[in-house]
Amino acid sequence: MDCLFCKIIAGEIPSSKVYENEYVYAFRDIAPQAPVHVLIVPKMHLSSADEINGENSVYVAKIFEAVPEIAKAEGLAEGYRVITNCGKHACQSVSHLHFHVLGGKQLEGQMG
Ligand code: AMP
Repeated sequence: MDCLFCKIIAGEIPSSKVYENEYVYAFRDIAPQAPVHVLIVPKMHLSSADEINGENSVYVAKIFEAVPEIAKAEGLAEGYRVITNCGKHACQSVSHLHFHVLGGKQLEGQMG
């Protein structure tokens, strides 16, 4: 499958890893939007949040279990934002489910 994040998980494309376990891989965004900008992805290929279901939601649970560990390791005690973009209207640019963890400064406004 020609998927950028699958290739990153497989080590075929370099990344700056910050966390990994059996289900989850996390690495620094190549174009950070905040002092800390980490992407957390499931090791199973899911194209977006729209493909989450009862068969695969363990991957999402594992991602959210990793969030506070990553936040702590990155020094985000003052808070952070976790978002996922799903599909065209949300400007999703990589078709492998991923959650952005943003922090390290006062983020602007509110989402939505
Ligand atoms: P989204 O627009 O929500 O689909 O987010 C995709 C993110 O992937 C963007 O923030 C990109 O900067 C990031 N990105 C694209 N290619 C790479 C890469 N090779 N390594 C790390 N992050 C990447």
